[in-house]
Amino acid sequence: MNCQFSTAGDTTYEVKQNLYAHAEEAHKDVLASMPEDKMKDMDQLMDKIFQELN
Ligand SMILES: [Zn+2]
Repeated sequence: MNCQFSTAGDTTYEVKQNLYAHAEEAHKDVLASMPEDKMKDMDQLMDKIFQELN
């Protein structure tokens, strides 16, 4: 996903909610074409990234 969207939140959960809300609005086609296992991979990757940031 080539996107410059950045978001801030107090918790990983909050940041993820913001990201998904944005993706649903701006990248609906990307989300729709993404297989469920790839979504899970992405979810885990985000958790990992946020853990490293904190
Ligand atoms: Zn975007």
